[in-house]
Amino acid sequence: MAQSNHLKVDQMLTLTIDDLSREGQGIAHVDSYPIFIPQALPGEKIQIRLTLLGQHIGHGRIIKILKESPNRTKNIMDSQAFMSTIPLSHMTYDAQLKFKQSQVHRVFYKNAGLDLDIPPVTPADEITGYRNKAQIPVQMIDDLLTTGIFKRGSHQLIPVEDFIIQDPKIDQIIITVRDILRKYELMAYDEENHSGDIRHIIVRRGHYTGEVMIVLVTRTFSLPHRQEIINELSAAVPELVALIQNINSGRTNTILGSQAMVLFGQDAYTDRINNHEFKISHRSFFQVNTMQTEKLYQIAVDFADLNGHETVVDAYCGIGTLSLSLAEKAGEVYGVEIISEAIRNAEENAKHNQIANAHFEVGAAEEWLVKKQKSGMKVDVIVVDPPRKGLAPSFIKAAGLMQPEKIVYVSCNPATQARDVQLFKNYNYQITKIQPVDMFPQTSHVENIILLEKSKF
Ligand code: SAH
Repeated sequence: MAQSNHLKVDQMLTLTIDDLSREGQGIAHVDSYPIFIPQALPGEKIQIRLTLLGQHIGHGRIIKILKESPNRTKNIMDSQAFMSTIPLSHMTYDAQLKFKQSQVHRVFYKNAGLDLDIPPVTPADEITGYRNKAQIPVQMIDDLLTTGIFKRGSHQLIPVEDFIIQDPKIDQIIITVRDILRKYELMAYDEENHSGDIRHIIVRRGHYTGEVMIVLVTRTFSLPHRQEIINELSAAVPELVALIQNINSGRTNTILGSQAMVLFGQDAYTDRINNHEFKISHRSFFQVNTMQTEKLYQIAVDFADLNGHETVVDAYCGIGTLSLSLAEKAGEVYGVEIISEAIRNAEENAKHNQIANAHFEVGAAEEWLVKKQKSGMKVDVIVVDPPRKGLAPSFIKAAGLMQPEKIVYVSCNPATQARDVQLFKNYNYQITKIQPVDMFPQTSHVENIILLEKSKF
């Protein structure tokens, strides 16, 4: 086992970085004991201060870079705040893409025993300002309601106005909202005392339409100066089409509560993907990087390789964005999704885009598919795009028993995707195509699409 007995917190060391962690932190070793150092790059010689010594790993902070990696870029943001939201901002974009490519290789090797040839990650055209959605926590700092980013691993708010990766118009709107809330002296939520008015400010903006949705997450139904806030916000943000008050009275880290009301406009804004127009309600998931989503869906549709006659299942379909791209090339598409508002959006969206062969149902995908399999439904292609935890074994079993020609698996967490591939092997499926896509530049996240087909042997 790694030994750290001779090391002390606050000790200074000069180390050479030899690896990157999953989150993109530099790793150096003292004997075989690994020390994780944010914003350090392989090949760099760095003077560090030890900040924490655990049994198996230690942590350190850069004091001085003695030999710099050619993959280092001028730190676009050096502040503590950005270590939690854009931990790769010190890497050149090319190095970020190579890092993500090697991450995908690693997890498939580790979790599925596969030594795959991973193609280069599909890059983003915009590596800043790409997010169409912001969920910003608020806190009282010096008696002022303040917006910003939690310091890594804490709930200590660091004030931030330029979030770097968000649509700059969204950044401006957050400041506008903050200033109006300050004017009427609203109080930010205080976690410890479970007091205050505002918990989060959510802003979403249609990348192609410019339409804006603002959600004020409040602790109770009361919103002091409600009418003045509505009047001022609708005047200050001309593109505002939806102002929602969502009430979250729980002592919880979950952002949205179960009740909500429309204060202005309606509970929806629109955006476009591949020339389809989508209505999105405040509870509905919508990919945060609109431009990259178009590439992601194109790859998924290419992998499905439809001829116009197939029956396709789109599980975890959200508001039906991918379902509609698939429907254009398929016989029938059946989408399933757990959030009922999203399914309502999906149905309206199909109608609005004059697509008649996409059908939607509310349900837990793992239960829905088991039911369909038992009822004898015949499916040619199953497309899945689950949340980070991946697929339930019951879903994989039902999919395996249905024996579709193809399974297209879109994942925001290749680690669980690789784990699930292991189970698909039991039903004779293997990976025939793989393509990572960079949906989240400057972060360590990587999206990955695989095509699974029945093995010929
Ligand atoms: N394919 C869509 C949505 C992907 S995000 C798109 O690209 O926009 C994953 C979706 O799965 C979310 O909409 C989430 O609400 C939904 N979801 C989460 N758990 C689910 C479950 N058990 N069954 C069905 N849908 C689920």
